[in-house]
Amino acid sequence: MRRLLIAGNWKMNMKLDSAKALASGLKEAAAGITEVDIAVCPPSVYIAPVAEALAGSNIACGAQNAYFEKAGAFTGEVEMAMLTDLGCKYVILGHSERRHIMGESSELVNLKVHAALKAGLIPIVCVGELLKEREAGVTDLVNRRQFDGSFSGVSAEDMKKCVIAYEPVWAIGTGKVATPDQAQEVHANLRALIAERYGKEVADVVRIQYGGSVKAENAKDLLGQSDIDGALVGGASLKVDAFMGIINAVK
Ligand code: PEP
Repeated sequence: MRRLLIAGNWKMNMKLDSAKALASGLKEAAAGITEVDIAVCPPSVYIAPVAEALAGSNIACGAQNAYFEKAGAFTGEVEMAMLTDLGCKYVILGHSERRHIMGESSELVNLKVHAALKAGLIPIVCVGELLKEREAGVTDLVNRRQFDGSFSGVSAEDMKKCVIAYEPVWAIGTGKVATPDQAQEVHANLRALIAERYGKEVADVVRIQYGGSVKAENAKDLLGQSDIDGALVGGASLKVDAFMGIINAVK
């Protein structure tokens, strides 16, 4: 049985005070919830204070990105081991904003996936098609390419630890949500692809989150689908009530 993972991606939002206040508010509101796994991914500069505010809670900390190299002359970058040092459990990799705004390729994401696993982090690897790709009927092709590129060389044992986030780019921050049927179809195809590459035993344990304008009102229908194992949440993760609304709707 796969446990749901609800993860908040705070993106480039918050200031120190609001980040600490959100973390403390979530710690209090989520106390005692054991049915689902919960994580928040603050901007990297706020990971330490957020992790401190979450200490002793059931909410894990994650990062939104990191570099694949070990410590050295890489100005502006953050090493995976720095994240574990701060108590991170997860790292989001290959988010569409990084793929499409920063120009990250699946090859780069793949290097990061290997580095994250080596450091003991759980990578949350995002895949998803653009609107024009969906309209052109190449949704599965795009997701397969991103999956194969991002997980190249990853062993079956390591694959079991990874989380995939299917995030149709046209549904991120737009208010447009994939219908539960649309999302389930892609999730089932991704799971079939994992089975093709790694076998059914691995495919059955890998968690595939949905992301794209998830909120309390649509979370239950989306996460009620058999191959949807949680949510990666952007906008609705920035307020205690909105994020808890999702968690309470699906727990
Ligand atoms: C995201 O940032 O991964 C995301 C899904 O954002 P939103 O929930 O705002 O669409």
